[in-house]
Amino acid sequence: MAKIIDGKKISAQIKDELKEEVAKLKEEGTEITLAVIQVGNDPASTVYVRNKKKACEYIGIRSVSYELEESTTEEELIELIEELNNRDDVNGILVQLPVPKHINEDAVIKAISPLKDVDGFHPQSVGALSIGQKGYVSCTPAGIIQLLKRSDIDIEGKECVIIGRSNIVGKPMALLMLRENATVTICHSRTKDLKEVTKRADILIAAVGKPKMITKDYVKEGAVVIDVGIHRLEEGLCGDVDFDDVEPVCSAITPVPGGVGPMTIAMLMYNCVNSRKINETELK
Ligand code: NDP
Repeated sequence: MAKIIDGKKISAQIKDELKEEVAKLKEEGTEITLAVIQVGNDPASTVYVRNKKKACEYIGIRSVSYELEESTTEEELIELIEELNNRDDVNGILVQLPVPKHINEDAVIKAISPLKDVDGFHPQSVGALSIGQKGYVSCTPAGIIQLLKRSDIDIEGKECVIIGRSNIVGKPMALLMLRENATVTICHSRTKDLKEVTKRADILIAAVGKPKMITKDYVKEGAVVIDVGIHRLEEGLCGDVDFDDVEPVCSAITPVPGGVGPMTIAMLMYNCVNSRKINETELK
């Protein structure tokens, strides 16, 4: 029987630790503030934004919300971001993605000050990660490192295979695993003989975006399997991993829901609370 890595429990622990830290900061007269911007009313984005605000409330972070019309122009959005960049009372700025098609996502990401880039998507944050400097780290991969560490799974020296090379999951995940001294392989849609590569993995991370694609044929006996995928099917939520097929052959696995998903918001909160530390030590 594989160990089920409980992302709900681990994310709750992290949020409780942050709550204590925020209470201490408040006693010292410091308040943490996150600005959350949503453009348009995509229903999935509305749910994500609501959950982020709820997490802020729980931890004691002040959230200021900007719900902008779908017709907002790129210039108007960037103007708001610049205003928030210049506000001393705002620690973090989050623009919920995707933005409407008429707005250039890269321009929006670049407009956020790297000092307030709590999503960790700014090229400066990504660059800092790739050369081993401290800075904001993209929340989902950072959450996966916490899941592994807090489940007492050793990373150093392990063969880690990541399926997916997106800017928000696959690539930062690979950099973080490298930082933890794993031997890292990244697979993608042009990888030849994917199964042969994934079967080498002690730690297999699936961020492929295809429901239940990863069956036991891709997994080495005793491997740790991390499922990043989220898919809403008629029968309910599932991941990129076929859980029922893979669970009997692996040593530990994250479920969907309740695995990686809850960690993303917990790490966003971590980035907000630690914004001062990250900025004071490295970025200024
Ligand atoms: P993308 O679609 O951006 O990337 C998917 C990656 O998988 C690409 O690099 C692609 O290769 C690769 N790929 C696609 N098909 C295959 C294949 N048949 N064989 C090998 N590689 C393949 O997805 P994201 O990284 O944004 O997200 C991945 C999954 O994680 C999604 O299900 C998403 O919903 C979920 N997700 C979950 C989060 C959470 O909080 N739990 C947060 C973010 C994402 P190529 O580059 O060659 O096209």
